[in-house]
Amino acid sequence: MDVAERIRNLPPYLFAEIEKKIDQAKREGKDVIDLGIGDPDLPTPQFIVDRLREAAGAGENHRYPSYRGLSAFREAVSLWYKKRFGVTLDPEREVVSLIGSKEGIAHFPWCILNPGDIALASDPGYPVYKIGSMLAGGIPLPLPLLPENDFLPALDYYPESIWRKVKLVFVNYPNNPTSRTSPVGFFQELVALAHRFDFVIAHDLAYSEVSFDGYRAPSILEVEGAKEVAIEFHSLSKTCNMTGWRVGFAVGNARWVEALGRVKTNIDSGIFNAIQWAGVEALKRSDEVLSSLIPIYTERRNIVVRALQKLGFDLPYPRATFYVWIPVPPRFTSMSFAELILEEAQVVVTPGVGFGEFGEGFVRISITTPAERLEEAMVRIEKALGG
Ligand SMILES: *Cc1c(COP(=O)(O)O)cnc(C)c1O
Repeated sequence: MDVAERIRNLPPYLFAEIEKKIDQAKREGKDVIDLGIGDPDLPTPQFIVDRLREAAGAGENHRYPSYRGLSAFREAVSLWYKKRFGVTLDPEREVVSLIGSKEGIAHFPWCILNPGDIALASDPGYPVYKIGSMLAGGIPLPLPLLPENDFLPALDYYPESIWRKVKLVFVNYPNNPTSRTSPVGFFQELVALAHRFDFVIAHDLAYSEVSFDGYRAPSILEVEGAKEVAIEFHSLSKTCNMTGWRVGFAVGNARWVEALGRVKTNIDSGIFNAIQWAGVEALKRSDEVLSSLIPIYTERRNIVVRALQKLGFDLPYPRATFYVWIPVPPRFTSMSFAELILEEAQVVVTPGVGFGEFGEGFVRISITTPAERLEEAMVRIEKALGG
């Protein structure tokens, strides 16, 4: 017997070939610098770990958590949104905790899509938008982020006849993988479109706090009328170096938040309460964490962008995220360029095509690696390109 079609039809794993080459280089004893994965290298701040320790010792935290999240956690989210974005959220109805935002993003299409409904997924983008929509029986279509549009979605890419069938649109700013940000004006345009064609916007705000040069990323919920059509996904993973903890949340439209909670009560049973207490602490003191984190990422970003610009690559200094999105030289594809850099420099970069067809022509570098290693990687890349 074979596995179900929904699993068999999952897109093939694009990086298998490159991964084989990485393994081989490592086996040959080569010093490989991995700039492929977007996972913070710095540890979770000590005060958050301490809060977990303390909460893990308390017996009342050992039982099943509430599937919607501890009320203290939902209240902390609501306070943080008020302080950070000026957005008012009812912690009872407009906030739900998630086992990392990936979990919520993957389950959300179950709440919205009937079989055959269309979901638009930013492309290049976080693969979960597309796969989650597929697993729910929907039809994902790419929403292209094009360089000529500074990587904002081309809303005129589809005719009205398609927009009328769209039920769900996934967007993400600050954006992974392009590192671009969105002006509030784009969110206004998208919210107006959602009202016109009656679809739900799922905005992924995972990188709101990873920003540079004084830039502050907006929430889509700052836009008037957004709460009627939008849900926003967020997580402590990138803000507080907590990817391993699996703690996130979704906020916004009460009906969609409730629906997501209903899926969760039937599938998982929420986050360990002790982790939620640590999350409360992280939300309360995120400014402290960021004031030491952001200068580190800023220095790393500068090392990478400065070196690449010197080599003739045309790219700006990103205002947010820990990625640099690099156009590959004309004679390469994203895959062949990544292979060249791996073979000649022993540096791993992610081919843009792994994020969707519109990622072709680019590779992504992640700066979640210490500055000295990034310097070394840039020296090697320069040599590999004959500089
Ligand atoms: C890292 C990331 C997430 C979510 O991470 P979690 O650890 O599941 O909260 C969501 N979206 C994007 C674009 C990401 O890069």
